[in-house]
Amino acid sequence: MAKRYDAIVIGGGHNGLVNAAYLARAGKRVLVLERRERVGGAAVTEEVFPGFKFSMFSYVVSLLRPEIIRDLDLPGHGLHILPLESTVTPMFNGDYLAGWGDHDQSRRELYRHSPRDADAYDLFGRQMYHMAHAVRPILGMVPPDPASLSPGDLLGLLRLGRHFQSLGSEKFHALHKLMTMSAADFLDEWFETDVLKATKSASGIIGTFLGPRSPGTAYVLLHHYMGEIDGVFRAWGFAKGGTGSISEAIAAAARRFGAEIRTDAAVARVVVKNGRATGVALDTGEEIAAPIVVSGLDPRHTFLDLIEPNALPSELVEAVGRFKFRGSSGKVNLVLGELPSLTCLPGNGPHLRGAISISPTLEYVERAYDDAKYGEFSRQPYMDIVIPSMIDPSMAPPGKHVMSIFVQYAPYKLNGGWNDARREAFGDAVIDAVARFAPNIRSAIEHRQVLTPDDMERITGLSEGNIFQGELSLQQLFFLRPAPGWAKYRTPVRGYYQCGAGTHPGGGIMGASGRLAALEILKDRA
Ligand SMILES: Cc1cc2nc3c(=O)[nH]c(=O)nc-3n(C[C@H](O)[C@H](O)[C@H](O)COP(=O)(O)OP(=O)(O)OC[C@H]3O[C@@H](n4cnc5c(N)ncnc54)[C@H](O)[C@@H]3O)c2cc1C
Repeated sequence: MAKRYDAIVIGGGHNGLVNAAYLARAGKRVLVLERRERVGGAAVTEEVFPGFKFSMFSYVVSLLRPEIIRDLDLPGHGLHILPLESTVTPMFNGDYLAGWGDHDQSRRELYRHSPRDADAYDLFGRQMYHMAHAVRPILGMVPPDPASLSPGDLLGLLRLGRHFQSLGSEKFHALHKLMTMSAADFLDEWFETDVLKATKSASGIIGTFLGPRSPGTAYVLLHHYMGEIDGVFRAWGFAKGGTGSISEAIAAAARRFGAEIRTDAAVARVVVKNGRATGVALDTGEEIAAPIVVSGLDPRHTFLDLIEPNALPSELVEAVGRFKFRGSSGKVNLVLGELPSLTCLPGNGPHLRGAISISPTLEYVERAYDDAKYGEFSRQPYMDIVIPSMIDPSMAPPGKHVMSIFVQYAPYKLNGGWNDARREAFGDAVIDAVARFAPNIRSAIEHRQVLTPDDMERITGLSEGNIFQGELSLQQLFFLRPAPGWAKYRTPVRGYYQCGAGTHPGGGIMGASGRLAALEILKDRA
């Protein structure tokens, strides 16, 4: 007799796994169905070249919600975060700007560039801390629908209003500015050092099809400020064993609560009878029944691929059709025979255990966007580089290294489309741009993997290769993510839910969507 399940989760990305773990913890019999041969989605570790482990897509962690780490006892299931303490930005004039784990050291470094900015930096840090605290409760909240008069929504709006009121006018106004300004304009109000503004603004463009001068990017900057590791606000870390070990730890927790996880199991459609989900059909034709079906996929797949459009109201189909994905990021993973030597800081040193940001000036980053705006990959891209084998030696054999280069911009809709030649040309542009600051990089490379948004879509299923399952732009946040009226993890099909990063609060290895969706499902099924 076929096994009976209370819930099926489609997609074993980290949000799907978190969702399954919370449902199983509440006593539900849960089955996760993952299309690939491994779980994790964009958060995977793969041995791309034998003996070398790569966080193939997502590479650093900070946003993972502390309550999830606690509730699922992720450290007990193998999660170990190693700190990533510094960021170095090489400059065109041979100098550099560094931010270190040690506050005084960072202050001294900034003082070297501008005493005024060194003073402003502490105030800026304090304001970002307050802003992150102001937004943090919203991340853990199911978005109330402002157009609804239901008691739950009215209560949610009241709670939200009270929260904003409690901030006081100064913080509320600062928050409003952050939500609407460009990262460059916002940083201009604080600092005079261009390389500092360039490096800071870069976290405002990640995963968006926007430049640092585009309105809305100040919020994305804040989004990346929001992380917390071991209670240290804004710290970024590296998961020992690569990003896949985060997904593996969540999967182990889910299994421990009794969830079953099947890989190599692609769902072709959700079975709907009389307006209610009754299970799923795999691409092999196999059907599996369950009264709850949860999609961890992005909104395009959740609403337009897995479900017959006529099962949904036309406004929702249209809204999802308009939802912006517009992948803009690429990734280059390298095997190195020797460490890169930066012209500004030659040889080995603590800076190689942190991030290297290729963002020498604001104009450089904005011009990188200009290329993408007109359908080309950036000839001189913004890059965030880490050398994971310097942080966790188990990532590469002794004496060798792995390097991860996250790149903006590589537009999904490239003029003439992506093909093997364009992929390699993009890879060459990335290496040329690195070589400008680390000339030995070319001779150090033993193998390279170049991933375009097109590759990301093909491998992970992320529509248009958008790293966040849809842009984190203002019109796609909170009660608008993924569509007005459908931001509370439910769908018009009874028993069918959504839990991926395409829902509030959005992308990054956060797990928040998976958890909030599980809590809503359990509320419905109490
Ligand atoms: C290149 C890149 C770099 C990034 N860097 C960072 C970073 O450093 N730090 C950070 O916090 N975030 C980063 N992100 C973002 C972050 O990784 C994602 O936002 C997050 O992992 C999304 O998780 P998810 O579980 O919502 O969805 P996904 O990871 O998209 O998971 C969806 C899962 O569903 C599966 N699936 C698809 N179709 C089917 C089907 N029909 N049937 C069954 N299964 C299916 C997929 O294989 C996948 O496993 C990065 C992303 C990318 C792509």
